Amino acid sequence: MAGRFAPSPTSDLHLGNLRTALIAWLLARGTGRAFLLRIEDLDTQRVAAAPEVAARQLADLTALGLDFDGTPVWQSRRLDRYAAAVAALDTYECFCTRREIAEAASAPHAGGYRPYPGTCRDLTEAERERRRRVRPPATRVRTGDAVQTVTDRWAGELTGVVDDFVVLRNDGVPAYNLAVVVDDVAQGVDQVVRGDDLLSSSPRQAWLTRRLGGEIPEYAHVPLAVNAEGRRLAKRDGAVTLADMGRSGVTPPQVLTRLAHSLGLAGPDEPVTPALLLTRFDPDALPREPWIVA
Ligand code: GLU
Repeated sequence: MAGRFAPSPTSDLHLGNLRTALIAWLLARGTGRAFLLRIEDLDTQRVAAAPEVAARQLADLTALGLDFDGTPVWQSRRLDRYAAAVAALDTYECFCTRREIAEAASAPHAGGYRPYPGTCRDLTEAERERRRRVRPPATRVRTGDAVQTVTDRWAGELTGVVDDFVVLRNDGVPAYNLAVVVDDVAQGVDQVVRGDDLLSSSPRQAWLTRRLGGEIPEYAHVPLAVNAEGRRLAKRDGAVTLADMGRSGVTPPQVLTRLAHSLGLAGPDEPVTPALLLTRFDPDALPREPWIVA
């Protein structure tokens, strides 16, 4: 049994990411699970600074007192596993541009996602041959528009139609939904804690988990951190990373206190440790509204 935290090394973790990591740690440790770190660096494989960013992310989590089991898994080193998973699925080539999908599909769903209308599902081989000369194809998995229900610890039951989603992008990079599921299954992850912007991806991922022979994990999507205007917290919102806060004299233990206070687990200035927070953590009492970082 394992939980995990799976950051992408695009930039330093901000307060919202750190808070999600703390919740993931508390939920994993509080339920007797291992806690794993996975670096989701498929998008940043060609970004020279990504390994340093990932190292800083790990250092920041460690500075807060969060510990991990085993060594971090890097997605960029597991390309053969993703290729094997794609080969085991019933897939087809898709030549559609985003724009074509937007024009053919129904209104956007959660997060602006447009279900794939199936345009390339039944192309003839001759037609594929012709289109391959125009643009490289993405690879989609055939789902038969399955309907999948998942249970989220906080959001409850969520049922979604699983469209034929992309498993391999047209630049050859494994898609996020594929890589996450391949890794969660391979790592024995049975508890998925992350920001609630990914809640709508969970029926798709649950469906793929079953397809790849895994058990659907427990999902626990955490309300996001937002700025004073109610928009998703971002680096430009000021001193939001440990490094920024360190420059103004705020120490990692003080940041831990701030995160714990936001979760109702500590007084505003009370020194705490993750171990102490574990004794106070009650998943059912987690605040369900976005955390306003002002
Ligand atoms: N890598 C994703 C992110 O940075 C998280 C994916 C997941 O937890 O499933 O938001």
